[in-house]
Amino acid sequence: MTQSETLFEQAQKYIPGGVNSPVRAFRGVGGTPLFFKHAEGAYLYDEDDRRYIDYIGSWGPMILGHGNQIIKDALHAQVDQGIGYGAPTAIETEMAKKVCELVPSIDLVRMVNSGTEATMSTVRLARGYTGRDKIVKFEGCYHGHVDSLLVKAGSGALTLGVPNSPGIPASLAEHTLTLAFNDIESVRETFAKMGDEIAAIIVEPVAGNMNCIPPVPGFLEALREVCDEHGTVLIFDEVMTGFRVSLGGAQGLYGVTPDLTALGKVIGGGLPVGAFGGKREIMEHISPLGPVYQAGTLSGNPLAMCAGLATLNAISEPGFHDRLTEKTNAVRDGLKEAADSTGVPLAVQSAGAMFGFFFTDAPKITRFDQVMACDVERFKKFFQGMLKEGVYLAPSAFEAGFTSAALSDDDIRQTTEAARRVMKTL
Ligand code: PMP
Repeated sequence: MTQSETLFEQAQKYIPGGVNSPVRAFRGVGGTPLFFKHAEGAYLYDEDDRRYIDYIGSWGPMILGHGNQIIKDALHAQVDQGIGYGAPTAIETEMAKKVCELVPSIDLVRMVNSGTEATMSTVRLARGYTGRDKIVKFEGCYHGHVDSLLVKAGSGALTLGVPNSPGIPASLAEHTLTLAFNDIESVRETFAKMGDEIAAIIVEPVAGNMNCIPPVPGFLEALREVCDEHGTVLIFDEVMTGFRVSLGGAQGLYGVTPDLTALGKVIGGGLPVGAFGGKREIMEHISPLGPVYQAGTLSGNPLAMCAGLATLNAISEPGFHDRLTEKTNAVRDGLKEAADSTGVPLAVQSAGAMFGFFFTDAPKITRFDQVMACDVERFKKFFQGMLKEGVYLAPSAFEAGFTSAALSDDDIRQTTEAARRVMKTL
């Protein structure tokens, strides 16, 4: 038995499914999840002392790679000062100022502890601000485990949403309309019918929870347009894309400005952090300025703030995202090359430092139904093969891949060679 197998067995005695977040259990790919004990640069080291090139990066935060010295120094210094006070600190203002500078649509920003809290708060704020209950989301987008957002489409367009999980009241889910991502027509149709009842559209501007699907030209622009026409709040969930697809996130990359933005992952540098912010006029409705309640015992915690701020400062270096995007393109193209040379049909796509690959004959994937039609069995075999080769990809066919600045040309070459060997066996 490997150490990971032993540890997983023990974990299952005390933790539901042995994990603290479901995708870690490897249910989507089979086998035993790896337990890690160390990480440095582009690599993870498991409890059996095997090294892996990491394309998950703690699900996004580790954009600088693991064990970055600047972040470690900032954390050590803060630990000596105090771990938390539950009272205002100067570093919270420094962080807020930095976020407002990097994301110009944000006039005011509130720190929270996870992406889920961030999206949940944007939805409550949009409802409180507009006095409306209905929200629009898109099929295949994930916004954390918020009740109103764990909702799938009903039997057809314009039907009431139905809960995605037991425990979510149907009477709440029915306020959520779920439309097809990248389908401009269905958005226009819905707004023509009931636009004036809709508080918000929430969207992942690059979908990263159904693999990696960039917006088709005009999609984000159409969302902006219908929101302007109907007094609806446009929320970009940039928990994944923020500070990753460009320094200014997806809104910087595509030039479409939301009213509110949810942030997470990179903003915490690996510590539990999220944030939401946007137009002053809307954000002023948040307590204590306004009546929409939102709070947090550990929100703005100094350790989390200094890891996040150190990360944001480091990625603000000129050329950082250009270099990271180049690396990401090399990873993406390497996978495609490996597939082409072994006759495996594969579509690859990326946005900034996010990438995806699909086992499909289709040249490009833009819709959820196309994602669902991809060859998941093939993905599982590929995932397991790559794991044996020492390459740690997301253990699900529906997650985007993430790159970090620590990834070297040699790591990327090794990844491509491993992919070629594994694809030959598919
Ligand atoms: N929004 C998006 C786009 C996400 O990808 C995630 C998490 N993967 C969340 C929200 C929820 O963030 P958290 O897991 O930190 O609650």
